[in-house]
Amino acid sequence: MDKVKLPQLIDPLKSAMKRSTYVGVYSTSLMERFVDSVLSCNELVNVDVKFLKDAQSLTYFQGTAQTQANLLCQRCNHEFSHSINLEFCFSPVQGTEIEEELPEAYEPVEVNDHGEVDLRQVIEDELILSLPIVALHAEENCNVGPDDMTFGIIEPEQERKNPFEVLKELKRDLE
Ligand SMILES: [Zn+2]
Repeated sequence: MDKVKLPQLIDPLKSAMKRSTYVGVYSTSLMERFVDSVLSCNELVNVDVKFLKDAQSLTYFQGTAQTQANLLCQRCNHEFSHSINLEFCFSPVQGTEIEEELPEAYEPVEVNDHGEVDLRQVIEDELILSLPIVALHAEENCNVGPDDMTFGIIEPEQERKNPFEVLKELKRDLE
């Protein structure tokens, strides 16, 4: 079955009025910043999001996003597979309007001049934020054990020449 491509821009107020649910995909080829943050990734991000109004008739949308990326382990320099499973809950706000008054469960998300949310960009931002700051294998899968690491760091120190030795050599060359 072909996956439904989701619209980039969605009007959250209208969608919440209709209690719309969107289930489909975004293509990662349109998420340049995310693609630049990883070695490689799946072609698609699976998204499931519903638009609702809460008891105080605040509009919000919540859902999940799921994809898979390959990252470079900063310890052993080998590629590893990293699954991303996000949950999000946003409430649309216009400009700098009453952000502080939003209930804590909602993250504010800005709408454009037409009252639309750029859902693709919101999801892309969330994907980037979900990436580990330092990408590392789980220790048991890593090709570099803790012992190898200390060894690697100490070695260059021993290579360095004694500065007096260097001076002596210099003098000898001048004579
Ligand atoms: Zn590793």
